[in-house]
Amino acid sequence: MSSNEILFQRAQRSTPGGVNSPVRAFHSVGGTPRFIKKANGPYIWDADDKQYIDYIGSWGPAILGHAHPSVIEAVQEAAALGLSFGAPTEAEVLMAEEICRLVPSIEQVRLVSSGTEATMSALRLARGATKRDKIVKFEGCYHGHADSLLVKAGSGLLTFGNPTSSGVPNDFTKHTLVLDYNNCEQLEAAFAQFGSEIACVIVEPVAGNMNLIRATQQFLETMRKLCTEHSSILIFDEVMCGFRVSLGGAQEIYNIQPDLTALGKVIGGGLPVAAFGGRSDIMAHLAPLGGVYQAGTLSGNPVAVACGLTTLKLIQESDFYSKLSHHTKLLTDGLNGLGQELGIDFCADAIGGMFGIYFSKNVPTSFAEVMQCDAESFKKFFHAMLDRGIYLAPSAFEAGFVSASHSESVIKTTIAAAREALLEISTK
Ligand code: PMP
Repeated sequence: MSSNEILFQRAQRSTPGGVNSPVRAFHSVGGTPRFIKKANGPYIWDADDKQYIDYIGSWGPAILGHAHPSVIEAVQEAAALGLSFGAPTEAEVLMAEEICRLVPSIEQVRLVSSGTEATMSALRLARGATKRDKIVKFEGCYHGHADSLLVKAGSGLLTFGNPTSSGVPNDFTKHTLVLDYNNCEQLEAAFAQFGSEIACVIVEPVAGNMNLIRATQQFLETMRKLCTEHSSILIFDEVMCGFRVSLGGAQEIYNIQPDLTALGKVIGGGLPVAAFGGRSDIMAHLAPLGGVYQAGTLSGNPVAVACGLTTLKLIQESDFYSKLSHHTKLLTDGLNGLGQELGIDFCADAIGGMFGIYFSKNVPTSFAEVMQCDAESFKKFFHAMLDRGIYLAPSAFEAGFVSASHSESVIKTTIAAAREALLEISTK
């Protein structure tokens, strides 16, 4: 038995499913999850000392590559000064100033420790500030595991949602309207019917939790217009796409200003930092100034903030995003080329350092289209790539991530492996 298998067996005895976050369990692709020992640059090593090129990057944070020496040094220096104080620090001020400077729609920001906390708090704030209960979200977007966001669409158009998780009372989700992503007509109909009751619309402006799906410009513009007209709050959940698709996030690419933004992943550089922020008149509703309560023992943790600040500094180096986008596009151009060369319904798309791989003829534009991709072929491809030392997200419905350390030669190795993998699975 391999070390990964032994660890997985042991893990399942002490932890439900053997993992601390479900997608790590390889549930949708089958097989044994790899237990990671160490990581450096674009590579990770498992418990059997097998090396992989990593396209998960801790699900987004590792934008510089793993264990960047400057980041590790900053973390070590901060740790030596004490791990947590439960009192404000200068580094938190610097971090907040940096976020506000880089994302102009954010006038004020509060740091939290996970993306879930960021979206959950932004939602409560939107409800508290508008004194309304209803929220709008889109099918296929994931915003963390807060109760009112774990919702699937109701049975008819413009009906309120049902919980997707047991343990969530219907009472918590009955205020959540779940609409189709990239569907402007539905959004207009929802506002026509419920406009004065809608506290907020929350959206991934580049969706990464149903594989990578681009919002259309018109979809986000319609959302912005309707929220303004009805005094509802527009929340961009940029936990994944913030500082990933460009320095100013998706809002910079689309040139649309949300009222609130949720951030996570990259801003922590691999340690637990997330944030929510936006218009200062809305943020003023937060405790201790206002009546919306939100707090955290480890919020703004000094070691985590040192990691995040150093990461934010390094991604501002000139050409950082043009190089990152170039390398990501090299990968997806290569993969698209393989689909054509081999005559397989296989394609890829990239925005900044984020990419999607689809077993379909064309890049999907909606949740319904993503659901039609060939998940069986993905499963086989995933394992054929893993065998060849390429570590992709273990699900057909997750985006992938390229880091600044994925060089041209690393990308070429990946494309060569993908060619072999596609040949292998199409002859099986
Ligand atoms: N929002 C989005 C868009 C995400 O991708 C995620 C995590 N994948 C979250 C929120 C939740 O973040 P966390 O896992 O840090 O709670």
